[in-house]
Amino acid sequence: MLNSYAMEAPSSYLFSEIARKVAAFSEKHGGDGPRIIRMGIGDVTRPLPRACVDAMKSAADEQLSAATLRGYPPDGGYDFLRKAISEHEYKRRGADIPPEDIFISDGAKSDSANIQELFGNDCVVGVSDPVYPVYADSNAWSGRLGHYADGRWERLVTFPCTRENGYVAPPPDGHVDLIYLCFPNNPTGAAASRAQLRAWVDYANEHGSIIIYDAAYRAYISDPDIPRSIYEIDGAKTCAIEICSFSKTAGFTGVRCSWTVAPEELRRGGVSLRALWARRQATKFNGTPYIVQRGAEAVYSPAGQSQCAETISVYMRNARRILDALRGAGIEATGGVNAPYVWMRCPDNMDSWGFFDYLLKEARVVGTPGSGFGKCGEGYFRLTAFGSPEDTDEAMHRVGALSRKI
Ligand code: PLP
Repeated sequence: MLNSYAMEAPSSYLFSEIARKVAAFSEKHGGDGPRIIRMGIGDVTRPLPRACVDAMKSAADEQLSAATLRGYPPDGGYDFLRKAISEHEYKRRGADIPPEDIFISDGAKSDSANIQELFGNDCVVGVSDPVYPVYADSNAWSGRLGHYADGRWERLVTFPCTRENGYVAPPPDGHVDLIYLCFPNNPTGAAASRAQLRAWVDYANEHGSIIIYDAAYRAYISDPDIPRSIYEIDGAKTCAIEICSFSKTAGFTGVRCSWTVAPEELRRGGVSLRALWARRQATKFNGTPYIVQRGAEAVYSPAGQSQCAETISVYMRNARRILDALRGAGIEATGGVNAPYVWMRCPDNMDSWGFFDYLLKEARVVGTPGSGFGKCGEGYFRLTAFGSPEDTDEAMHRVGALSRKI
């Protein structure tokens, strides 16, 4: 009667295990010693841009009058937001994505989990290792990955992202139908170059595969040569769906707004994936609130742009501070330049959880064990730049002091 695949899926052990360990440590050590600093969170800490809050307040006021009340939003989102995204995120970067290809939603998490509903259960699915867990888990729940045995899903293909390939895997030799890519990457902080993305687009067009491209961290790209969208690569419109979010661009993790691009040109067997996604959303989703969409639109006002840029620069200064401190301590660390995540190698050949315990005990700093994101993450550790500058500074000061003892 119940979904047996869902029951086979290992529970999301990573963050609950971190919370359990931190709670146990706090209980034991209570008030003694310095406070615990959390650098494991992927949530934002800076206030929302003033321009977005002002736009949401005035959109809320519109609801006080029957003449301006907004009920159910259009399935794909309001035209004002689809047009703003088309212009600012695509046309200005040389990618011709019209508003009709853009579907407004309530999160990159839900869209990246729901998109698999468009595909048959015989599809071969491939994900990076390490990886944001939603892609594999959502396919697993549908039964597409077979059974879970010996710590892996039978039918899941993984693309190892290692130090040797700079944490950007090349396309596989064999055939994969549905490919999930995420750049800039959570957890490694790697960003794919134009040539690396081109290789994936060429592979997908040759194999008839579809790439689901998660660009939730695109606003953090500082290198002008790194594409922010897969549609900056010729040929991507016939093989890729792109998922983006206002969560990390504008601090909307609590407000909830995102978009997915399904280009008109993307067809399989004569069927338009844009039409299929429109149908899926119309069937199962009743839209992102008008007030929220007005808030998201304000991201593209001159004030919104400069306020978002200011917040991102605060986080990226944190990332620089983390990288400098780790490297200064002789620790191998990557990411943190085009992404708010720093991926470090655990010192002294410690494993990921061994280093987690060590860092908590000795420095009272909490990060995320790399092994929680996949087998290739073992021996690595993720630190995030989303804390306050003061906390980041203090944590890195402690790590520096610690390294002198290692
Ligand atoms: N995609 C990636 C790679 C993420 O790391 C996250 C959040 O941490 C999300 C999507 C979720 O984005 P949203 O808040 O829009 O659901």
